[in-house]
Amino acid sequence: MAQIKKFKVFRFDPDKDTKHRFDEFEVPFTKGMTVLDGLNYIQENLDATLAYRSSCREGVCGSCAMHINGKYGLACEAQLMELPEKITVRPMAHLDIIKDMYVDMNPFWDKYKAIKPYLIPGNAEPVEGERLQTQDERSHLDIVVDCILCASCYAGCAVNGYDPKYLGPAALAKANRFYLDSRDSAAEERLSLVAGEHGAMRCHTMFNCQEVCPKEIDPTANIANLKRNLVAKQLSGKFSKKGV
Ligand code: SF4
Repeated sequence: MAQIKKFKVFRFDPDKDTKHRFDEFEVPFTKGMTVLDGLNYIQENLDATLAYRSSCREGVCGSCAMHINGKYGLACEAQLMELPEKITVRPMAHLDIIKDMYVDMNPFWDKYKAIKPYLIPGNAEPVEGERLQTQDERSHLDIVVDCILCASCYAGCAVNGYDPKYLGPAALAKANRFYLDSRDSAAEERLSLVAGEHGAMRCHTMFNCQEVCPKEIDPTANIANLKRNLVAKQLSGKFSKKGV
């Protein structure tokens, strides 16, 4: 006999509704099914109007991040077997709702673009068409390189709630990723991009981002490295490319 999970699902259509509500659904499940599988079941069998975002179904694309039983994370990684009988899903915070769990990611991407998320190699010539780095140089990126830009940390960050212009943990962690890259020559510019009122110093070190990250990245440590280097530069007038 199939076991049942009770889904309590956030619903809101700004074109029709004046306030949100929660709809409840019963979802039969077997071992291995995830919250995303449950939402797919609801959409395919119970209510085709349910809106949410997903793509890869295996924790790579980051599209299905949402609030699940009190914590942000990926619906495709949340195993139903490991969750209680009642599962409450809500959309990501700090992003406008387009419909149900489907949110407008543009502010998140705008902040990501603002930190120039690409290598700026300077005048050094590539070697046989490649810009190489040693294993040791590459290891400095381990603390952030697996970020899939799911925005769980952004939604979980309280500062993003009261300062909509704050760059947020994901963009700042990515800024540190390029700051630390041995092939990048724009370290000073990168620090200046995160030095403003809504940049790294705005982080209050609450660790919510670290708590929710499905890829076990520590955005707080990345932001701390930017802060350290911003302070060092201000104190000494000199610039140094220090790692975490
Ligand atoms: Fe998602 Fe983690 Fe990257 Fe934040 S740091 S966007 S939570 S993968």
